[in-house]
Amino acid sequence: MDPVIAPRRPTRPQTSNETRGQALRRALLEDRQVHDFVEAGALELSPDESMARHTTLRLGGPADVWARPRSLEALSALLRRTHAANIPVCFVGAGTNLLVRDGGIRGVVVNIGKLTAVSRPAPEHEPGHLEVEAGVSTGRLLRHSLDWSLGGIEFLGGVPGSVGGGLVMNAGTYLGEFTDVVTEVRSIRVNGELMVRDHDACGFRYRASDLPRDEVVIGTTLQLTPRPLAEIEADVQGLRKRRKEREPTGVANSGSTFKNPPGDYAGRLIEVAGLKGTRVGGAFVSPKHANWLVVERGAPCSAAQLLTLVEQVRGAVYRHHGVELELELKVIGE
Ligand SMILES: Cc1cc2nc3c(=O)[nH]c(=O)nc-3n(C[C@H](O)[C@H](O)[C@H](O)COP(=O)(O)OP(=O)(O)OC[C@H]3O[C@@H](n4cnc5c(N)ncnc54)[C@H](O)[C@@H]3O)c2cc1C
Repeated sequence: MDPVIAPRRPTRPQTSNETRGQALRRALLEDRQVHDFVEAGALELSPDESMARHTTLRLGGPADVWARPRSLEALSALLRRTHAANIPVCFVGAGTNLLVRDGGIRGVVVNIGKLTAVSRPAPEHEPGHLEVEAGVSTGRLLRHSLDWSLGGIEFLGGVPGSVGGGLVMNAGTYLGEFTDVVTEVRSIRVNGELMVRDHDACGFRYRASDLPRDEVVIGTTLQLTPRPLAEIEADVQGLRKRRKEREPTGVANSGSTFKNPPGDYAGRLIEVAGLKGTRVGGAFVSPKHANWLVVERGAPCSAAQLLTLVEQVRGAVYRHHGVELELELKVIGE
């Protein structure tokens, strides 16, 4: 599902010597608060920003405006402005599960990678209670859990991305997934309203959640459990070793491309259908792990070519096994 909200075009006229992104940035800056946050360095607004720079697949066209708030106040001011002016917005994390189409993204792409606070409000009473902002990387969160000898998120060993993206995707591995440790998720709606959901209201399931696409996840409360450091390290290292043996390296990728169908593995179905190595332009089915549709580093490749490969694999798996593979990868843009 395309997570772009309110796909209406900005009404602001574009002058002849401006790009679409520059015109949109100018329109955003007409708001006093947005202007002041930008001037103070609390909000970055980059026009015509290549999304290939912000996704691990390294593909895709430009976002009209790439916005990075450094505070919740700057984020709220930006959302109030986009909402009032009917400017489309979408939210991306570290771009590790994202394919942006070649035409890029109209409107404002908001990234909260600068909101990175992690705290333990009352370690003496509740040692496993963590407050985490959604821009924190999964790797940093895992390092904190090791520093504090807290178990529960060993499953994040080798899973890249931000906590926000991990919550939306319910990211995980055979050791567990976000749903196991989340007690609360906080988000802001596109109209600026703060939303707080307890675990059950998040609708976590296999690589998905009910967190609405017209909200930006800003933070979460996690409940971890004190555990001997050596045990945590053994699990994380075991997971990393297993991943190293099985996962392709030296290619641009987004991890697994398809979800595993119930009772089976997408990789097995793709391999048995004889598709390992199948290529469209610079995109190919990894010979090492068939559920990784990857892009050769440095080779010319478009998002359209990767999507053609996705459809070829889907078609062949359906013909061979009668199984319809569902994308785990999120595809956005035009
Ligand atoms: C090498 C590699 C290995 C991987 N291995 C695994 C694995 O083992 N297990 C696994 O589950 N995944 C894996 N992935 C996929 C990916 O790491 C996860 O899906 C991750 O949780 C995505 O986080 P992100 O911040 O990169 O989100 P993005 O890719 O940026 O976005 C993913 C989705 O979340 C939404 N989103 C992101 N942040 C926010 C926010 N703050 N508010 C609202 N919406 C938001 C986006 O709109 C999009 O729909 C792997 C990826 C790579 C590249």
